Amino acid sequence: MVNQQATANPYNFLYCPRCGSALRISMLENVPRLQCEGCLFVFYQNPVPAVGAVVLHDGQLLLVRRKYEPRVGYWSLPAGFVEYSETVKEALVREVKEETNLDIEVGELFDVYSSSDDSRHSIVLIVYWANVTGGELKAGDDALEVAHFPLDGPMPEIAFYSHVKAISRLQREFMA
Ligand SMILES: [Zn+2]
Repeated sequence: MVNQQATANPYNFLYCPRCGSALRISMLENVPRLQCEGCLFVFYQNPVPAVGAVVLHDGQLLLVRRKYEPRVGYWSLPAGFVEYSETVKEALVREVKEETNLDIEVGELFDVYSSSDDSRHSIVLIVYWANVTGGELKAGDDALEVAHFPLDGPMPEIAFYSHVKAISRLQREFMA
């Protein structure tokens, strides 16, 4: 039951967003899901898409130091959540601009990661290569600091495991 609660209702929603009746967990096609007692609306819970950038400059990786919870002060790839109205690539261009003030051109897909170590959401992180096309590097409103780290040197403390995995892969490929 505990697992079903976490899977079907990770945010502990109580009421139907359509009609305001109580939500309960129903087994629908063998999957526990939140369903409204009144209008039978099924409130699906899915991972949230996020997007991140690999920006390299002379063998150095661009990282952003987090200003807000979770993991304040830890570092990550420039990254953020995809808004409802934008494409994944539009989200990446916007997030990199907001966090680093750099303009980018989105390149090839680097990798995709599922993660559940962010306290806010279960996440699908989509990581692209990106090339800088303009702008002057400076920390945006939602970053404490932005900096480049040599791939063959020590990395700072990284906020999320999906970012750790992406950076580890980059380091392996850089050394190879
Ligand atoms: Zn309802």
